[in-house]
Amino acid sequence: MRTVLITGASRGIGAACARDFAREGYRVAIHYNKSEKKALALCDDLIACGCEAITVQADVSDSAAVTAMVRYVEEQFGKIDVLVNNAGIAMQKLFTDTSDSEWDTTLATNLSAVFYACKAVAPAMIRRHSGCIVNIASMWGEVGASCEVAYSAAKAGVIGFSKALAKELGPSGIRVNSVSPGVVMTDMMAGFCEEDVAALKEETPLCKLGSPEDIARAVVFLASENAGYITGQILGVNGGLII
Ligand code: NAP
Repeated sequence: MRTVLITGASRGIGAACARDFAREGYRVAIHYNKSEKKALALCDDLIACGCEAITVQADVSDSAAVTAMVRYVEEQFGKIDVLVNNAGIAMQKLFTDTSDSEWDTTLATNLSAVFYACKAVAPAMIRRHSGCIVNIASMWGEVGASCEVAYSAAKAGVIGFSKALAKELGPSGIRVNSVSPGVVMTDMMAGFCEEDVAALKEETPLCKLGSPEDIARAVVFLASENAGYITGQILGVNGGLII
């Protein structure tokens, strides 16, 4: 049975991914950092639906913690077929007000975390000559967002990282892709006022914001055999907000 480790699966897009992978018959490792109750409740739900699921805690900005998370899931499931690097944080702030420590935290959580997790899963994937990595980027990593310079830089880094890793790991039978969401209604959007959300909706050609499920479907597709010849790509799931 195929296995998936999803970081930041306690809520939002990651939780939707966990539910979709479970529906597809995967054994699912739900990673969380602080939202333990939500992760455990989701795990119980998946198990009640007949899925094999476990939870694992780690701060993804901590290299040793990420390695321990991967080793734990490998021990529990025997292998990791699919890694979804989804955990992330946003930060809206004027560039001139952004402190060194805010920059460091944003880069560590959104970009270094992806490096740590990929480095930890790659050796076993290379040995098996099979595996799939899906990294969650952002449209702001493609076009840049005012007042989100650190976040945009981190997500642009995720895109460049994914393309380079796809080239390096392709000959080892491993596919690496990014999903680049537009505006998705999760806790991450809590800082946006109603007017800003309405304006973003109006700007979107499909006239609606994304749901976590919209993103999850794209992630599950990229992990599937239907995407067997797709690697190094950025799949924009943004309602046409950037084209
Ligand atoms: P969310 O609802 O705020 O959830 C964030 C998740 O990341 C939570 O599960 C959280 O875990 C985890 N996380 C945060 N910091 C962590 C850390 N230091 N260590 C480990 N886990 C950590 O966010 P979301 O909207 O679902 O976003 C998921 C991904 O999509 C992110 O990479 C985000 O940048 C990207 N994205 C989102 C949007 C959007 O509009 N929502 C658009 C583009 C891209 P705990 O709660 O357990 O601490």
